[in-house]
Amino acid sequence: MAPYAFAAVGIGFLLFFGHLILRKLQRSNDFVWNRQFVSYKRLPLSRKRILQTYPFFQKLSPKYQKQFEHRVASFIKDKKFKHRHKPIVTDAQLVYTSAVACRLSFGRRSYLFPMLDTILFFEQAFQSPTNEAMHKGEYNPRAKVLALSWEDFLRGMAVDDDNFHLGLHEFMHVMHFESERSTDIDAVRFHKYHQLILRHIMDPAVRERLDNASYFRDYAFTNQYEFMAVLGEYFFESPADFNQQFPVLFSYMKKILLFKDEWMS
Ligand SMILES: [Zn+2]
Repeated sequence: MAPYAFAAVGIGFLLFFGHLILRKLQRSNDFVWNRQFVSYKRLPLSRKRILQTYPFFQKLSPKYQKQFEHRVASFIKDKKFKHRHKPIVTDAQLVYTSAVACRLSFGRRSYLFPMLDTILFFEQAFQSPTNEAMHKGEYNPRAKVLALSWEDFLRGMAVDDDNFHLGLHEFMHVMHFESERSTDIDAVRFHKYHQLILRHIMDPAVRERLDNASYFRDYAFTNQYEFMAVLGEYFFESPADFNQQFPVLFSYMKKILLFKDEWMS
């Protein structure tokens, strides 16, 4: 074999083992390598103006604003947006739902929610096709559709410290579902900390404190999926309180989302 062929094989091996080692390091040390390599995509001006009214975006440094805009533009391009009763979806609907999804996933490398294809808007709470109950949001993993009541989505976004945030809640469901099916590094980390959260709340002492404190709303205890979605809402809406009340749960959520302190305020 010619020397360059040896070199090529050698480099191939190095890349392969490098990849394995890097993956193992990311798993054991809870970080993502190369979280965002490029940030070149821009929104058209009309949509950019809407993004500029989004409080989370306003507080980011220029470097992170660029990253965030790239992610929002990519998310909009990647998803289908439909309205159940109207022919068109507004720019505000496109930008705000994408911005909420990207806020939740901003610490991750994977931000396109691969288990989601379509966002379906209703003006108000709607009747679920699967049962009679009225829903403000519903994720259908099989169809990869997230249905949202626009009125309730806006309400969740408008009051940012009442621990209710429909958009964050529903996108947590999508992220959680992905964590059970994907081998992506962000999904694997979600799964790892979800297991740790379940183990932590099984501890009788923690259980008792959860009951006595009545901190999380009752709905959180419906099942493990609602628990994670509600933790997501509290994490963003009252981080200081949450951290003070349940520091272990808070730290696990931080690991799941890899959310930086500088984005918290
Ligand atoms: Zn839910």
